[in-house]
Amino acid sequence: MTKIKEKKKMGLTTRIFAALLAGVVLGVVLCYFLPDGKIKNDIIIEGILYVIGQGFIRLMKMLVVPLVFCSLICGSMAIGDTKKLGTVGARTLIFYLATTAIAVTVAITVGNIINPGIGLDMSTISTSGQTVENMEATSFAETLLNIIPDNPFKSLASGEMLQVIVFALIVGVILAKLGDRADTVTNFFSQFNDIMMEMTMMVMNLAPIGVFCLIARTFANIGFSAFLPLAKYMIAVLVALALQCFGIYQILLKLFTGLNPFRFIKKFFPVMAFGFSTATSNATIPLSIETLHKKVGVSKKISSFTIPLGATINMDGTSIMQGVAVVFAAQAFGISLSLMDYVVVVGTATLASIGTAGVPSVGLVTLTMVFNSVGLPVEAIGLIMGIDRILDMARTAVNITGDAVCTTVVAHQNQALDKSVFNQDN
Ligand code: ASP
Repeated sequence: MTKIKEKKKMGLTTRIFAALLAGVVLGVVLCYFLPDGKIKNDIIIEGILYVIGQGFIRLMKMLVVPLVFCSLICGSMAIGDTKKLGTVGARTLIFYLATTAIAVTVAITVGNIINPGIGLDMSTISTSGQTVENMEATSFAETLLNIIPDNPFKSLASGEMLQVIVFALIVGVILAKLGDRADTVTNFFSQFNDIMMEMTMMVMNLAPIGVFCLIARTFANIGFSAFLPLAKYMIAVLVALALQCFGIYQILLKLFTGLNPFRFIKKFFPVMAFGFSTATSNATIPLSIETLHKKVGVSKKISSFTIPLGATINMDGTSIMQGVAVVFAAQAFGISLSLMDYVVVVGTATLASIGTAGVPSVGLVTLTMVFNSVGLPVEAIGLIMGIDRILDMARTAVNITGDAVCTTVVAHQNQALDKSVFNQDN
């Protein structure tokens, strides 16, 4: 069953990649080899390619509010449960949130050094109404107050994501507190969550068509100038992922546990490779628990709680992609982001990480919410989607390494780490 599913996934990846290449070819032909005229400009570029490409973007947007709302409620129900585990829960949670916030900061810094979107002018491409002019500057006080919804239904209807997140978190924690008394509602949200996941898969199946049209239109409008920025975007994401995985995590591991980082990476590498090849945090849960137990010496008492929780709410790799994507889109659309905007991005991406399910591509859907939080046009997502699968694989490996490092630290702090196992050569 899983094999069949896996085959289908790979098929989709290949189709998306083929669509990307075909879109580039069509776009280049339209840009350089076809003379301007009604058929080329009005019917092909601004007609067919625009309508189908935008249709796909709208489908992606359609998913965001219900998907994030339900998965955050489910995610925060899991957090609410952590109370049962007292300090372990609190420590895990703090570590997860802190590493995600560090990850976004690393991503924004690397993004601003590599400048992936500079040289790409997407501002000429019409977007769905969001322009630089209609973005209002808000004060710090307003930004803070805006986090609290005055009417949660209005927030849901208008897609005010930060407010939706806050409301969902509160509902989730209360559901966890009420336990059996709120069984019906709990089941409703977890089933609705399943429905949204299924819908995401359906929309993702249309991705090849969407990517083809979006890329073809981009290249038809701006020609080869899109190549270099995309390559730079990829490099920036990979550099930030490597820094987080082999730098930040290893420093934290050494500082908190005194374990040798090289030995840790060597022992955990098979799990990273598994996460890389499946792009699914959820699928690595059993292997991760087993490896941490047998090779690192982490008691299953800790890992059986922290690893599934991490696979649900701790997505440092995903938030790195989102941080770099923000810089890329802002530069490509010529929108300058203030320090306050970046603070909002760190906050939203950290929360988006809780709302991202540990399956392929969901990070792209929650990316729309990060873009919305600072008024960036979601059209840029169409461009980076074509090359996302390889980045999805890399970020998933980082996502699960983050969970494992945190688990090892928490185990050490709770006297549940057997260093003699770690020091053995397995
Ligand atoms: N594929 C990622 C994971 O499973 C989620 C994502 O970033 O799309 O961890």
